[in-house]
Amino acid sequence: MITLNNVSKWYGQFQVLTDCTTAVKKGEVVVVCGPSGSGKSTLIKTVNGLEPVQRGKIVVDGTVVTDKHTNLARLRSHVGMVFQHFELFAHLSIIENLTLAQVKVIGRSKEESRKKGQKLLERVGLTAHAEKYPAQLSGGQQQRVAIARALCMDPVAMLFDEPTSALDPEMINEVLDVMVELAHEGMTMMVVTHEMGFARKVANRVIFMDEGKIVEDSLKDAFFDTPQSPRAKEFLAKIL
Ligand code: ADP
Ligand code: MG
Repeated sequence: MITLNNVSKWYGQFQVLTDCTTAVKKGEVVVVCGPSGSGKSTLIKTVNGLEPVQRGKIVVDGTVVTDKHTNLARLRSHVGMVFQHFELFAHLSIIENLTLAQVKVIGRSKEESRKKGQKLLERVGLTAHAEKYPAQLSGGQQQRVAIARALCMDPVAMLFDEPTSALDPEMINEVLDVMVELAHEGMTMMVVTHEMGFARKVANRVIFMDEGKIVEDSLKDAFFDTPQSPRAKEFLAKIL
């Protein structure tokens, strides 16, 4: 579903990604972890073309993201992305947040979009909040709305960038629970997170990044039980 082949990227003179190669199969859940500044956010944003790369090839569901002729808006409409800071539209109600892109980007009727929005709100347990505005919801609720909003577009894959790291501790699980459910339903997911409980529960593989390189790309149990690189060992010792 997602392949990265020798992806390298520079911000000016600074090389942020070096020869990153990996693949995520349909239905697979891959957790990406590593120290702050190691390039996790940049890597995940390259997948839907939010960050252009200077070298290498990225393909998502048959679409060559790194081809300059690719319609990135179309690609992004079916690759869901959830960020640390929710990024809901503050001036729109929750249900409007869920319907906007359905109407504008994929041309669904308003009625159908609302129906879909309501169905997905129900799924994340927020039916009662449809007419509220983002600021009236807790962080955990806003993040669940952000996930529902992405799901409204029938994504072929979902990308998450530290979706729980801006949340108060008591709200982390309500968001992780939604993600675990998605994983169990077979959604293809790439998740940047330090929630190793989540990784242990649903990840197929764990990618560990350091200084812009993928230094470890292992099956989950292998990563936790026998990490290969000294940096990954050190990292695990700190957070487990
Ligand atoms: P992570 O998500 O692992 O913390 P990032 O991908 O955000 O890492 O950043 C990797 C490196 O790239 C960091 O050193 C960061 O300072 C740098 N960086 C990130 N975004 C930019 C940018 N827009 N311009 C220049 N440098 C950047
Ligand atoms: Mg980051």
